[in-house]
Amino acid sequence: MNIAVLPGDGIGSEIIAEALKVLRKLNLPLEMQEAPVGGTGYDVSGDPLPEATLALAKSADAILFGAVGNPKHDHLPRDKRPEQAILGLRKHLGLFANLRPAQVYAELASASALKPEVVAGLDLLIIRELTGDIYFGSPRGIHTNAAGDREGFDTMRYSEPEIRRIAHVGFQAAMKRGRRLCSVDKANVLETSQLWRDIVIDVAKEYPQVALSHMYVDNAAMQLVRAPKQFDVIVTGNLFGDILSDEASMLTGSIGMLPSASLDANNKGLYEPIHGSAPDIAGQGIANPLATILSAAMMLRYSLNQAAAADRIEAAVKRVLASGVRTPDIFVEGTHRVGTQEMGAAVLAAL
Ligand code: NAD
Repeated sequence: MNIAVLPGDGIGSEIIAEALKVLRKLNLPLEMQEAPVGGTGYDVSGDPLPEATLALAKSADAILFGAVGNPKHDHLPRDKRPEQAILGLRKHLGLFANLRPAQVYAELASASALKPEVVAGLDLLIIRELTGDIYFGSPRGIHTNAAGDREGFDTMRYSEPEIRRIAHVGFQAAMKRGRRLCSVDKANVLETSQLWRDIVIDVAKEYPQVALSHMYVDNAAMQLVRAPKQFDVIVTGNLFGDILSDEASMLTGSIGMLPSASLDANNKGLYEPIHGSAPDIAGQGIANPLATILSAAMMLRYSLNQAAAADRIEAAVKRVLASGVRTPDIFVEGTHRVGTQEMGAAVLAAL
């Protein structure tokens, strides 16, 4: 199994180093090859997504990604900025399905902005379509209308194959979990959503074991903070998913804990923590590596068919949290504060 390892910028190399130690400990036949990306890629080649890095990512079975972004590159033209690397990888690799689990470990329930009893034990997966919808639809622009007023417009657009393939990802993920899928749309108002709903209902015929429900996006936004534990898997379009997945991430209270996957049609994927390069703490050895370690577990589960190994990593993380070991971002009085490497070592010991 060939893995392209792209640490990127800021805390990227610190958190990836810990994830690699965990992967190596599993004694699986993993070939890991590292390449520069983001600001680091720009510095060596003048391009945030160097050709050799893209070639490596294309040839690999899965990609483990740290984070990109460095304030020293903020003056560059947009196409040379570090963040372009991730957009380029999504585009070139056809990564159309974004999977974001939001899990609240009992020990961290007090870190959420919501009441602990509302979130304790939460285990939710949001699947967001990543390459279509109003972000990519045309026509779009700003023009002057007949009345002489400036007017901005975008086009919400989904084709049947685009909806069908993300619906399959939703049902297949639900089959691997609690077998409940909630499709979120705005079918009471939008034609795009009506088509979305019709097709999801059609795809559901292939998955009779999965209980399908539908929810309007405004209600979903409300239900996510009212009673988030009602959900197992949510599948939704790019725009709604963008908003709901950020909302869901805050249910857990800590950005340093959340992994993600972006998959193509063959379950090849890019795995990364949802946070960025955290330049404010880079180099200090205090970043939380758990989101990246949990991303590695997702990689084993979704792209490499190593569910048992993924289970082992997730169980080890739970055990470490239960033992009271905490990086500063999840530290509370009465627990044991550690740095990035000590947290990685604690996970290795628990493995
Ligand atoms: P950020 O996620 O990097 O940081 C937000 C806050 O969370 C900071 O205070 C940071 O210290 C903290 N934080 C983030 N990850 C942490 C971790 N693992 N452990 C402990 N604390 C952590 O977001 P930002 O500050 O808005 O952006 C910084 C840079 O990252 C920017 O250049 C941005 O464009 C980039 N970015 C990249 C990605 C990506 O690579 N996919 C995603 C988001 C932001």
